[in-house]
Amino acid sequence: MTEYVIIGDGISGSSAAETLREEDPEGSITVITDEGEPLYNRILIKEHAKGKLPEAPISIHEEEWYDERDIDLSLDTHVTRIDTDEKVVHTHEGEDIGYDKLLIATGGTPTQLPVPNSDADGIHHFWTFQDARKIREAAEGSDRAVIVGAGLLGIDFAAVCGAQDIEGKYLMRGDRWWRYALSADGAEIMHEGMRSKGVEPVFESGVDEFEVDDDGHVTAAVDPNGDRYECDWAGVAIGLTFNTEFLRDSDVEQNNGIVVDEYMQTSVEDVYAAGDITRFYDVLLGEQAQNGSWGSAKEQGRVAGVNMAADDEAEPFEWVSSYSITHFDFPFLSFGHPTLGDDHAERKYSDTEWRRIAFKDGKIVGGVLIGDLSPQSKFKQLMREGRVVADQKEVLLEKSVDLDELAPTQEQ
Ligand SMILES: Cc1cc2nc3c(=O)[nH]c(=O)nc-3n(C[C@H](O)[C@H](O)[C@H](O)COP(=O)(O)OP(=O)(O)OC[C@H]3O[C@@H](n4cnc5c(N)ncnc54)[C@H](O)[C@@H]3O)c2cc1C
Repeated sequence: MTEYVIIGDGISGSSAAETLREEDPEGSITVITDEGEPLYNRILIKEHAKGKLPEAPISIHEEEWYDERDIDLSLDTHVTRIDTDEKVVHTHEGEDIGYDKLLIATGGTPTQLPVPNSDADGIHHFWTFQDARKIREAAEGSDRAVIVGAGLLGIDFAAVCGAQDIEGKYLMRGDRWWRYALSADGAEIMHEGMRSKGVEPVFESGVDEFEVDDDGHVTAAVDPNGDRYECDWAGVAIGLTFNTEFLRDSDVEQNNGIVVDEYMQTSVEDVYAAGDITRFYDVLLGEQAQNGSWGSAKEQGRVAGVNMAADDEAEPFEWVSSYSITHFDFPFLSFGHPTLGDDHAERKYSDTEWRRIAFKDGKIVGGVLIGDLSPQSKFKQLMREGRVVADQKEVLLEKSVDLDELAPTQEQ
């Protein structure tokens, strides 16, 4: 009987556990998580923080789900070290758990701002259900907040402000939100969306220090220009630090994330990794990449489970990810790797509609759609087919994309 151990019960770890049980009905499966609750929908915790959704629908698995599948779930258990020679996982309680196959699905932890008082009371990071409960509590009845981090998670803090009627100041380092993927035209639509929710984007700003009161609670953020923004609480979302501390004595290769091939296998035999934590070989992109999205983490967990049970390179990970934002009156979708590539095309269609497509070696590798998401399945199809289309930008930027208009000779 094969003994499988999974560290992490987020969507990637949980999806691997489910797949392993299907693929290997006899195997022993242990899932270890340092959170106090089984899998919940991390995407939906923002709706809870906004005050819109009660707790119940956010949970995905009850503990019975694991019992029914004969999966051993250890809650509140932190893995402190692994020994890949002895094939043992060590926990903070001094327990040693042996494995034949190990999956690391530990994701990341929000990075703290490296400025004075960044750990003060009232400064929030957004990753766990517990974080969301605290943000909701802080937001209810507060008047002013400061947000830092001009990316996909920072905007969730802006949405919390909007939903809870809080005057928000969104301090950004550059001249626009998500400047790595959006031009000024695209970003301006997002800025208007923020303003419509009562959140003011502040450009060429950021935080040099937080001020606190006598009780150590945050009272203001001071930006590099010396401007001071008073606040009842602050939300910081400047990125993730990957949870790899327990790997410090191991040979598992890391490169700002755990390096895996397309089969989710690490550099060490019988050790796999899945989800946000991986730097994986992206077969569509033709190079190593990273991805912080729910669908991708779920699929990586499933693929890892298949390959762990097969004891072989049975199935590669081949996936076009997407990430949507639904806080505003217009929809937003990012797909693939919108910040990569060597060429791009973009067009603004109206005050709420914009499109950008990123290409590498003539092939689509990602993009951002604002306002009209209808072309997404066509762009994803072209990505999966690996078609060279960068010389036909006009067809791709037509308001209504017709793939039949693409020259057939460009197919590879
Ligand atoms: C507020 C918010 C909104 C989001 N919105 C979207 C969205 O709209 N669309 C989208 O696609 N994605 C979204 N995401 C991102 C998405 O949720 C993640 O990409 C996905 O959950 C990653 O899953 P994972 O299993 O790789 O890691 P995680 O979900 O981070 O799970 C890792 C688990 O491992 C545990 N762990 C870590 N270290 C240890 C250890 N040493 N011992 C034991 N356990 C450990 C952690 O506590 C955690 O439970 C959002 C994320 C957040 C926080």
